[in-house]
Amino acid sequence: SASHFNVIIIGAGAAGLMCAATAGYRGRSVLVLDHANKPGKKILMSGGGRCNFTNLNSTPANFLSDNPHYCISALKRYTPQDFLELVDRHGIEHEEKAPGQLFCKDSAKDILNMLLTECEWAGAEVRLKTAVERVTETDGGYRLRTGSGDLTCDSLVIATGGLSIPTMGATGFGYRIAEQFGLKVLPTRAGLVPFTLHPELKEQLAPLSGVSCPVDVHCHGQHFREPMLVTHRGLSGPAMLQISSFWQPGDSLAINLLPACQIRNDLLELRKQRPQSTIGQYLGQHLPKRFAQAFNELQGWSGPLQAYKNSDIDQVAEVLGQWSIKPAGTEGYRTAEVTLGGVDTRQLSSKTMAVLERPNLYFIGEVVDVTGHLGGHNFQWAWASGVAAGNSA
Ligand code: FAD
Repeated sequence: SASHFNVIIIGAGAAGLMCAATAGYRGRSVLVLDHANKPGKKILMSGGGRCNFTNLNSTPANFLSDNPHYCISALKRYTPQDFLELVDRHGIEHEEKAPGQLFCKDSAKDILNMLLTECEWAGAEVRLKTAVERVTETDGGYRLRTGSGDLTCDSLVIATGGLSIPTMGATGFGYRIAEQFGLKVLPTRAGLVPFTLHPELKEQLAPLSGVSCPVDVHCHGQHFREPMLVTHRGLSGPAMLQISSFWQPGDSLAINLLPACQIRNDLLELRKQRPQSTIGQYLGQHLPKRFAQAFNELQGWSGPLQAYKNSDIDQVAEVLGQWSIKPAGTEGYRTAEVTLGGVDTRQLSSKTMAVLERPNLYFIGEVVDVTGHLGGHNFQWAWASGVAAGNSA
């Protein structure tokens, strides 16, 4: 005979563990299953090993979804402040690295240990190295066939995450379960991911490799003013990761390399005041030296500004203010931080995360079509959706 739990959660990641503790504290018997040999692997590798666990300025506007209103309710009922209080209760030291972005001072392990401690206190069991082979419906619940026998539950929560970083255990399992129960799964693609370049451009930009500078990048009516990093593989850094979630194959990016400057006015003024100065010198004042030099060479700008006609200056200003780049593609799921798309939220309750027609089947975290901007928003969605389901399952 199968052992029975009130709630079984598949996926011992950010959302699953948060959900487990919440349901456990309500007195439900809870089992979390994961096929991996360790829980929360993505938490451990997140934020460069220090986990950007929330963003104090997180609002629904920081999320992409085909159904943008879906996330509002859960995010409102479990806020960044709520998670911060939990972190503080556990005495975890943290710091605000960029405005609103909270990281562990020491290690992402602190966040994972906190979640596992909460699960323990709440009486929720975490069982690893357990693959679920099949899910079937029972009278009022579900039966799971696993490598180590059958399990049954009243409520089933799918928290298996997205497709990014397959080497960390990502699978399409959650999407398959959704389809098995008649739900629509919206097309998925890699988000928060570096761009790759066509060979010619890659070669031209090679001298800029390793240099980072603050830019304002535009694509599809969206823009992000954050640092860009040129790498030996292509374009990365927060600005590029952010805009990658909006980019579609074939799109160009328009990059303002001097977002803090009035470029055209600056150059006209400079030509008047110091006609012997060069564009290279102007760039050197506003960009990292190596970047200024390499970019100037790339554009072939030379000679004193007095030799530049107004129309030349217009052209230079346009290149600097709207440098147009057409990426070849992205690095894909191999390095993407998130997966866009997923289980269509129109069939889910925004209050409980349960399937509307099937109130004992829940989808939480990254497997659903809610994707955050870079900067702690994705974990905030994992916590908030986990708590919403944990309060209902
Ligand atoms: P996950 O945390 O991915 O957990 C899913 C779990 O399900 C895993 O343990 C997996 O092993 C398990 N699983 C999968 N398939 C099966 C199956 N078939 N059977 C059993 N178990 C299964 N977000 C931030 O907010 N801040 C950051 O600093 C940040 N940094 C990141 C850095 C990197 C390199 C990456 C890849 C992501 C980062 N993210 C960050 C995104 C964040 O990690 C995810 O959005 C978040 O982990 C999603 O939580 P989840 O619980 O839905 O899924």
